Amino acid sequence: MFKKILIANRGEIALRVQRACRELGIKAVVVYSEADREAKYVKLADEAVCIGPAPSAQSYLNMPAIISAAEVTDAEAIHPGYGFLSENADFAERVEKSGFVFIGPTPESIRLMGDKVSAKQAMIKAGVPTVPGSDGALPDDPAEIKRIARSIGYPVIIKAAGGGGGRGMRVVHTEAALLHAVQTTKSEAAAAFNNPEVYMEKFLQNPRHIEIQVLADQHRNAVYLFERDCSMQRRHQKVIEEAPAPGIARRLIARIGERCAAACKKIGYRGAGTFEFLYENGEFYFIEMNTRVQVEHPVTEMITGIDIVRQQILIAAGEKLPFTQRQIELRGHAIECRINAEDPYKFTPSPGRITAWHAPGGPGVRVDSHIYTGYSVPPNYDSMIGKIIVHGDTREQALARMRGALAEVVVEGIKTNVPLHRELMVDANFEAGGTNIHYLESWLAQRERA
Ligand code: ADP
Repeated sequence: MFKKILIANRGEIALRVQRACRELGIKAVVVYSEADREAKYVKLADEAVCIGPAPSAQSYLNMPAIISAAEVTDAEAIHPGYGFLSENADFAERVEKSGFVFIGPTPESIRLMGDKVSAKQAMIKAGVPTVPGSDGALPDDPAEIKRIARSIGYPVIIKAAGGGGGRGMRVVHTEAALLHAVQTTKSEAAAAFNNPEVYMEKFLQNPRHIEIQVLADQHRNAVYLFERDCSMQRRHQKVIEEAPAPGIARRLIARIGERCAAACKKIGYRGAGTFEFLYENGEFYFIEMNTRVQVEHPVTEMITGIDIVRQQILIAAGEKLPFTQRQIELRGHAIECRINAEDPYKFTPSPGRITAWHAPGGPGVRVDSHIYTGYSVPPNYDSMIGKIIVHGDTREQALARMRGALAEVVVEGIKTNVPLHRELMVDANFEAGGTNIHYLESWLAQRERA
């Protein structure tokens, strides 16, 4: 087992990985930017190395600085967390070339899955169902583009091969708007992702976002840890996640889960990963794979009792998965609310000093957060300041626990979206379960009008 791991991330996930290290008796080294000097994860770490000024480009995305931090501290492996360099194949490659273990898949897997066009093609080959669409990247010929759209049927969505984080997508309803949309998405993609390639998919009207968590070791074993329902989204960003997905038959989940585990074996995948699907009328359509731990991993941990970050580390160290598919049991229901430092009505970021913080507690309540009273949320990064996760025997109990947790939690000094979550937890449609990916946006639009 590793003696020391460097965590190339910040915030709650840097703390989460540190906790897994501690449990395994591994020393944790963290890196931090000048803006994170006072962060809790820095104070709790065994060692901490400042890697640069506040802007991510000069710190958390600064590969040479991170690798030299691993060198000077004698770390053996690097955990990338999520975001930042976690899905950067060049980084994974540089980490391994410098003699460290990258806690994640091989650079080849990251590259294959990081390009949505090649990912989709790999999934088709592995027998995973995908959204009907163009066969690979769109050609330049306008007549051909129109022909493809007609054969798919409007509405269609133009997506950047290199896209991510909900960016680089455009829905097209009519042929008149098609070519302009393709052109705009292409130039945006070239600027934002350094890759002008775009592809086309059928735009599903009312799908749910259902994803499958997988774990694969380096000995050709792969399992799925059931699903998460992440349909509650705003601007393609997840706000609430839960598991299991309300109302979807277990045999459908088992069937798609088995396909995902088989695909992992087929592509030689290792580590934790997530297959994201749109789900409509009883069918799953693959949209992309995330080759890293996700923000919403705790809901899966709560329903399976499996520590995903611990497994990531054990897999990277070459160990075999300690369980078979049949030994993985689903127990109860879990819900996660992402707490963001933002205005709950206008969604403008609200960084600044937290003057009071009281975390909720009680049975089945977990809080993953790096904040504390007196902590200043820097304006430089993602606005998420923590996650409240609850577990109950049933969805009703989980909902009741989440309502209780949200009633207890206090964050003062900055604005947060806690009031939004409080409203959503008593919304009749959310309570009923199974809302689609447009539900939150339409709910917000209605609240705006009211
Ligand atoms: P990203 O990598 O930016 O997260 P995804 O491909 O995962 O992009 O898509 C993000 C979100 O965009 C999905 O959760 C869904 O809400 C919407 N979306 C993507 N593709 C489609 C599609 N073919 N039809 C309808 N909605 C889609």
